[in-house]
Amino acid sequence: MTRRTSTHDHGRGGSLVIASNRLPVQSDGRGGQRPADGGLVRALEPLAHRINTWTGTWPATDPSPEWSAQPQARLHPVRLRSDLAERFYNGYANRTLWPWLHEDRSRTERDESWWSAYQQVNMLFAHTLALSPSQATIWVHDYHLMLVPRTLRRLRPDLRIGFFLHTPFPAESSALPANECRALVRGLLGADLIGFQTEADVAHFRRLMGPETGDLRTEDGRRDVGTSLVVRPASIDTDRFKALAAHPRTRARAAALRAELGGRRIVLGVDRLDYTKAIPTRLAGYEQLMRVGLADTDRVAFVQVAVPTRSEIDAYRTERDEIECIARRINVQFGAADTEFHRAALRLHVGALPVEQLVAYYLAADVLVACPQRDGMNLVVKEYCAAHEDGKGALVLSTGAGAARELDGAILVGDVTPEAVALAVHHALRLPPDEGIRRMRRMHLHVSRHDGHRWAEGLLEEIRAPRQIARSPRVTVSCSSTSEVIIG
Ligand code: UDP
Repeated sequence: MTRRTSTHDHGRGGSLVIASNRLPVQSDGRGGQRPADGGLVRALEPLAHRINTWTGTWPATDPSPEWSAQPQARLHPVRLRSDLAERFYNGYANRTLWPWLHEDRSRTERDESWWSAYQQVNMLFAHTLALSPSQATIWVHDYHLMLVPRTLRRLRPDLRIGFFLHTPFPAESSALPANECRALVRGLLGADLIGFQTEADVAHFRRLMGPETGDLRTEDGRRDVGTSLVVRPASIDTDRFKALAAHPRTRARAAALRAELGGRRIVLGVDRLDYTKAIPTRLAGYEQLMRVGLADTDRVAFVQVAVPTRSEIDAYRTERDEIECIARRINVQFGAADTEFHRAALRLHVGALPVEQLVAYYLAADVLVACPQRDGMNLVVKEYCAAHEDGKGALVLSTGAGAARELDGAILVGDVTPEAVALAVHHALRLPPDEGIRRMRRMHLHVSRHDGHRWAEGLLEEIRAPRQIARSPRVTVSCSSTSEVIIG
């Protein structure tokens, strides 16, 4: 934060309002609140002096400026009755949209009352955001709020509206009824700019969009702007991870961790306990490596950190049971039954680690495995590369993660099967040191150049850029690496 502003000085380009499902605060464990650790809060930190209001539903909180030192920064909670919140969050957002966006057809559930709750909550957000000052910029985040831009545009045509989708956008849309798909696409097209993680996401969106643009033009004839679709991969606070990795306390923790695991080579996984992350598949892959003798408990330890999430939903509880079952099976076959024993084949940590501890794990790990079926980005792999300024470590990454488009030093896995993951981990453990260092240095350099600050500042500037006259073409698409318009 380089510049302080007064209550009346909203910074360049007028007021800035952020909207996301979560507010940027979390419990401090003593009945109060502190700034949240989440990636979005960190990524938007460079904009803190320009943010006037952050609108969100959770946690239920009083408007309080404590999340930011900035005098003008306010939280604007959108309060939901608990049954509405349940149908919106655990219903449509996480049992319909989340699996649909990740192309998991078998888990895409439907219930009419969820869809109507989603529409209601998006409407509430739009009406709350419509109270923003004249000419404000509204930056809406993620899949919970896809209908907001269009409603808000109708209520307040003077606003600049940006939207960023942190998840993938699906190639296959048929798991949702056509009217809902159409409403979601039209909802997003109310924005001046929609940011996506990858070029494939934009291509999928354009395919689904079809003739929608024409409809919007007729209906909203006063607008002479187009919607820009841009590829802007989200990123991390790279300097923070570099600094944490360089800190003597973190290095000492990493050394202690290695000693605790008996000086073996360490393969690490760090994920939310979400079925999209395919944790059972990688554990099964590791099990196969041990079974055929390409890894053994004397030389290698697998550490999996799994952070529980959305545990009110059956699919997430089943996922946890399956992971714990495979972990037990591996340790019974190949190591000690007690996962805390230093010779365990697999150490499963179910729970979140504080970031300092997490970076110690990154430093200690010889290989990080991230093999989701589909993932918008996967910031964990960027954090791992940021921590390895020393060039050590290797990355196994599935092509289903947005990060695979950027990190060209990773060992890539196409089809996420136990066999493919096993081969990739084996390859990573045997990389010649020179090649390993070359690969990691390339990836470290990439996350240093493309950090979250650049992402946030750049996107805000684009959302605020002068409107384009868009008769034909109406929608422009550009890609972050070149800023070149690739589709007109
Ligand atoms: N994380 C954490 N503690 C943990 C495990 C993960 O703070 O024990 C953080 C991690 O640093 C990363 C985020 O959780 O910033 C996970 O982001 P990612 O994009 O990899 O996955 P998502 O959870 O958003 O699907």
